[in-house]
Amino acid sequence: MKINVHAGHNPDGKVACGAVGIIQESTEARKVKNEVISQLKQLGHTVYDCTCDNGTSQSNVLTKIVNACIAHTVDLDVSIHFNAGAGDKSGNGKTTGAEVYVYSNTSKAKPYAEKVCSAIAALGFANRGVKISTNLYYLRKTNAPAMLIECCFVDDKDDVQLYDYQSMAAAIVYGITGKKVAQPADTESDDEASESGAETTTGDAKQIYRVQVGAYSVKSNAESMQTKLKKAGFDAVVVKA
Ligand SMILES: [Zn+2]
Repeated sequence: MKINVHAGHNPDGKVACGAVGIIQESTEARKVKNEVISQLKQLGHTVYDCTCDNGTSQSNVLTKIVNACIAHTVDLDVSIHFNAGAGDKSGNGKTTGAEVYVYSNTSKAKPYAEKVCSAIAALGFANRGVKISTNLYYLRKTNAPAMLIECCFVDDKDDVQLYDYQSMAAAIVYGITGKKVAQPADTESDDEASESGAETTTGDAKQIYRVQVGAYSVKSNAESMQTKLKKAGFDAVVVKA
């Protein structure tokens, strides 16, 4: 695919920057954007970064973003934002979560938006779903199917604790492509080197091939590797050998 990606707003500290909460929208959106672009490229897609870092006003930022977007013929336009307004700075144990905007119910971006919502929800964020907006300049003025992702809330402690830019980016990439970039797992085996291999069950002819990451004598070490793998987007189970 050919995809435009940008982070919303000017950089933090400049006029027309994004929302400020426990974390800052413009800064985090740029981290997620860079990681999304890197992962999409690793998966073989052509990506254009349409982020504006030098707008003179809010409308100037939007104009520059849209001009950069429409300069390329692409399959999808992706805008990365963070939400604000949750007002939960002390944390109530529940995330406020993610939502994705598209221009209309018939937008070709809508199926991607739904998958992005599900992928972010799979990280543990509340799924606020796909929303329709005909008011957003970026959705109105771009040519390709476009979506605007509100990753999570900058002013909700629960969202901020759960959030990290790499897993957020991986979820967005998975929503768009259905694929995950393999993360290099750091293997901290405490007694045995990692190995991958085949195992044959006795009794019948069925072969089972397991992919192994590590072998641990301490159960909690195995569980912490399982947590890392799940965070990186892989299904992982702990089995006794
Ligand atoms: Zn924003």
